[in-house]
Formats: sequence, C-alpha cells, structure tokens
Amino acid sequence: MSERVIPLFDQRLAAFKADIPAQKIAANGLLADTLGRPLRDLRISVTDRCNFRCAYCMPKEVFDKDYAYLPQNALLSFEEIALAARLFVAHGVRKLRLTGGEPLLRKNIEVLINMLAVIETRDGEPLDITLTTNGSLLHKKAQLLKDAGLKRLTVSLDGLDDAVFKKMNDVGYPVADVLAGIEAAQAVGFQSIKVNMVVQRGTNDAQILPMARHFKGTGVTLRFIEYMDVGATNGWRMDEVLPSREVMQLIHAELPLIQLDTSAPGETAERWGYAGADGKHDKAQGEIGLISSVTQAFCGDCNRARLSTDGKLYLCLFATQGHDLRSLIRGGASDDDILSAIGHIWQKRDDRYSQLRSEMPADTSTGARKVEMSYIGG
Ligand code: SF4
Repeated sequence: MSERVIPLFDQRLAAFKADIPAQKIAANGLLADTLGRPLRDLRISVTDRCNFRCAYCMPKEVFDKDYAYLPQNALLSFEEIALAARLFVAHGVRKLRLTGGEPLLRKNIEVLINMLAVIETRDGEPLDITLTTNGSLLHKKAQLLKDAGLKRLTVSLDGLDDAVFKKMNDVGYPVADVLAGIEAAQAVGFQSIKVNMVVQRGTNDAQILPMARHFKGTGVTLRFIEYMDVGATNGWRMDEVLPSREVMQLIHAELPLIQLDTSAPGETAERWGYAGADGKHDKAQGEIGLISSVTQAFCGDCNRARLSTDGKLYLCLFATQGHDLRSLIRGGASDDDILSAIGHIWQKRDDRYSQLRSEMPADTSTGARKVEMSYIGG
C-alpha cells in the first residue's frame, strides 16, 4: 500500500488575482483557449467536505478532524454561484456539473439547482445540469433534486463487495445504502444514471466483473476510471493503475463488447456497448465507459473549467493554481468586467497535464503541488 503524505502547504491559498483586462472580451460564445478548445462544461464544487474518505481523493490521514475546512462565509453563496454560472453560460457553457466533496452535504442544494435550472444556453436551450454524488444521501434527496430541475446523476461506487467498498470509502459505509440511493433515483424518474468506479490495481480490480454483471441491462451506465495522480496527498503510483484496455478485455472475455461513437465533443469516456447475439450493440443491455486519463489522455478537446468551493477558477483537474473570481464578485465588479476576466483567463489556457504526463517516464512527478480534487470537484 502506498505511503500517504501530509501536505505542509495549503494549496487553496495560492491563487492568481483575476485581472480585468483593459481590452473588453465580449461574450459571443466563440471563446477558445490557446489550443482552440471552447469553454463548454463548468464543474462547480459546492462544498469541500465529504462523509467518505476515499484514499484516492481524501485520505483519512490528511483530511482528519484537525483539517481546516473552508469556513461557511468563504463558500460562494447560491446567488454567487448562479451569477458565475450565468456568466460562464454567456461564454458558451452548456453543461453544469455540481460536485464537491460530497455536494448533497451542502444544505438545501435543491434551492441552488432550482436557481440554475432557469438559466438557458446561448441558443435558448435548457442547461444540462448534472451532479456527481457518493450516493449516501441520495435515497433522502432524490425526489427533491428531481423536482428542482436536476437533469442527470452520476453516482460513485467502487465495488459491490461490502468489505472492499468499505475499505475504499474508509468510513465503513455499506454498499446496500448506495444501491438503495440509485434505486430511489430511478424510482423518481432519473434516466441513464451513470455509476463511476475508480479502479485501483490490487485493491478493487476484482470487483470489475461483478459490477459489470450487476449493472448490465439495468439502464445504468457503468464507467471505469483509471486511478489518477490527482492532488498531492493520495500517494499515487503507476503500478496501481489498471489500464482501461485491460478492463475492457477482462469484461469482453465474458460479456462481449462493441465500441461505440463518442456522444459529444469533449466526452471523457470511451463508450463500449454490450453486443447482442448478432454482434451488434444491444441497447437494452446498455453500455460501459472507460475514462483513461493516465493511459489515453483526452486533453485535446478538453472543454472543462472548474469553479472551487470558494470561487477560484481552475483550468485543469491537475492544476496547481486557480484564479480568484470571488474577489471580483464580492468586490462589486460589473458582469461585463467579470465576463472579460473569465474570457481573458480562458484565452490564455494551455493546460494538458495528462498528455504531458503520458510523455514522461512513469511515476515521474512534476514536483508541482496539484490542487486537491475534493476542493475543485472530479
Ligand atoms: S488533464 Fe486537464 S486538460 Fe487534460 S483532460 Fe484533464 S482536465 Fe482537461
């Protein structure tokens, strides 16, 4: 098992001041970064707290009772989040993902969803609002989320075996309660729920086939995520990564798969459908997804920005520093000035960490302290 490290430097404090450029940057939906990538997807972390302690994200040794979580007044309020979302949408964002920590821990999150649900895209379409949860509170919240206007759900579940899952979440939380949350969400009408499983070689890879068998034909899309070197505390090692190619082959050997086209530009998952007797995709049996940030980087069309719990704009999951938008929002800057600031930041973006990592020898660390995933959302 890899060594955990206790960070000495609080990455959350490091932020660029978000400058208002002299040259106004209008919101025309055509914003592109230095690699020509548009801004289409905004992930909003609504809390840095979680009731799980998954070692690949919030290792217990670091995120313990003495960890300094953000005080309430540091968090963006619902009104500030809605304002920021509206401005990002003006720049071309079409999809909002609410994350955390565990977003269902944020009190009255359904009120925020309701505020976001009235925002339309630049061409008058409803926004695609989705949320990633560990499922622990879903059985209580499913109806409220649905009524508030949430469109889609992603549930993190790293195994079906109770002992393995409890080891992964490191708080002894039972699988049955997460499965009950997924059923509750389906019962209130959430369609095409996604389940994300982080695969760590030697820890939960024996759960790959049981998970595939369990969710096949249920309308739930199971996605396997390669274990990533996010943040600075999970002690990541390359030999604990099980490449997606091997995951696909393991499943295909028992449950034949057929590759499917990606569903949208910037889609992170490679799609594989369960094949029917005719060798074609049997839609009733559904599909799986492979998210391969380590072995098949997908930075080329990455159109995702991240807003931290306290209002910093991050341009990559593996970023080392954010841009402080909260000061502009709370400093009374006009919408146009904040729009220009966001535009200016995105235009200078050149992030492609996974691509660069894949060009470096395995286990090479860039040495830079990356921001924690629990602070900016997965
Ligand atoms: S590593 Fe960064 S740039 Fe590449 S896909 Fe992930 S978030 Fe996007």
